[in-house]
Amino acid sequence: MNLFNVYSLLPFEPVKGEGSWIWDSAGNKYLDLYGGHAVISIGHQHRYQVQALKEQLDKLTFYSNSVQNHLQEKLAEKLGKVSGYDTYNLFLTNSGAESNENALKLASFVTGRKKIISFKKSFHGRTSGAVAITDNPKINSPFNQDHEVVFVPLNDMEAFDSAIDSQTAAVIIEGIQGVAGIHVPKSSFLQHIERKCKENGALLILDEVQSGYGRTGKFFAHQFLGVQPDIITTAKGMGNGFPIGGVLIHPDIKPWPGMLGTTFGGSHLACVAALAVLDVIERQNLMLNAQTIGHYLMEQLTAMNFPGGVRGMGLMIGFDVPEDKPNLRNELISKHKILTGEAKPNVIRLLPSLALSKQEADIFLQAMVQQLNPVAVA
Ligand code: PLP
Repeated sequence: MNLFNVYSLLPFEPVKGEGSWIWDSAGNKYLDLYGGHAVISIGHQHRYQVQALKEQLDKLTFYSNSVQNHLQEKLAEKLGKVSGYDTYNLFLTNSGAESNENALKLASFVTGRKKIISFKKSFHGRTSGAVAITDNPKINSPFNQDHEVVFVPLNDMEAFDSAIDSQTAAVIIEGIQGVAGIHVPKSSFLQHIERKCKENGALLILDEVQSGYGRTGKFFAHQFLGVQPDIITTAKGMGNGFPIGGVLIHPDIKPWPGMLGTTFGGSHLACVAALAVLDVIERQNLMLNAQTIGHYLMEQLTAMNFPGGVRGMGLMIGFDVPEDKPNLRNELISKHKILTGEAKPNVIRLLPSLALSKQEADIFLQAMVQQLNPVAVA
């Protein structure tokens, strides 16, 4: 059997990781500023997490949600404390798309409505509802196209006001648009959305799958923007590579038996992985580090005068690659052994571990100077 070939692969295979570094099968060492798509939050192979997982592996890997699992309660309590959402309730999933799918379903259950407002260039995942609210017709099959979704340009209040009405179940927005190339919603816009949701009886869902888990310097990006959503979705950095996602749900939304469900979500091993991530975020003060190193990177990159400026918050940073450097990302890999993320058409995205050090940031900045001004450097 062959693999079903849907991914464009970079020309190397990582076989080992430590902190912000990965090694390929030929022994080359790479600085990882991509984190496998914002997943590596506390650093590759963090000893504390590895140890916690090994200990749990020796006890119990998995049992389904038909039995009591105190690790889920411990995780909910800890996540509430670290995120500042201690009055919310937690539903555990396995991925970002599954978190969003359940958030949409909850909003629809609560309001009895179907219409969803999403934003142009948004990305929310690939399951039926999540892909329907994703603004990319190429990945939306006819099967997914019967959902009632309106796409509005980000930060366009007028367009938003003409879209929202008494039929709207929810508005879903990314804390920072990631796949679109790092676009931060204006706080005035987000606050306007929150007000309009209340007026129309719709729920506000914040997709913090990429922008959450401390990446911006606060636990969730929207905590910089002055709103309090009804539902918040997470995944990616939550397990530092172990698949786990979550839906944080306002206490006014009441569960009933069987309302939501999953076989694997909240397994023993997943909970231990997520608890270790939160412990490390707290103990190593990683949100502060994300803010400090992120600020430093933004300042240094801004001085390089990219055409569209430098966008983002904390360690979620994007900039448009200059037209005369179309191969910048590939050259950072091949010449400097530095891995970054990208976004179409030609944006570089930085989504490193929240533990990235200043020395590691400087390695990237020096490589950028060499790539952008090869003559001056020579
Ligand atoms: N939401 C956002 C904002 C994302 O960036 C992604 C993935 O990139 C998802 C949802 C989907 O997450 P997953 O791939 O874990 O389903």
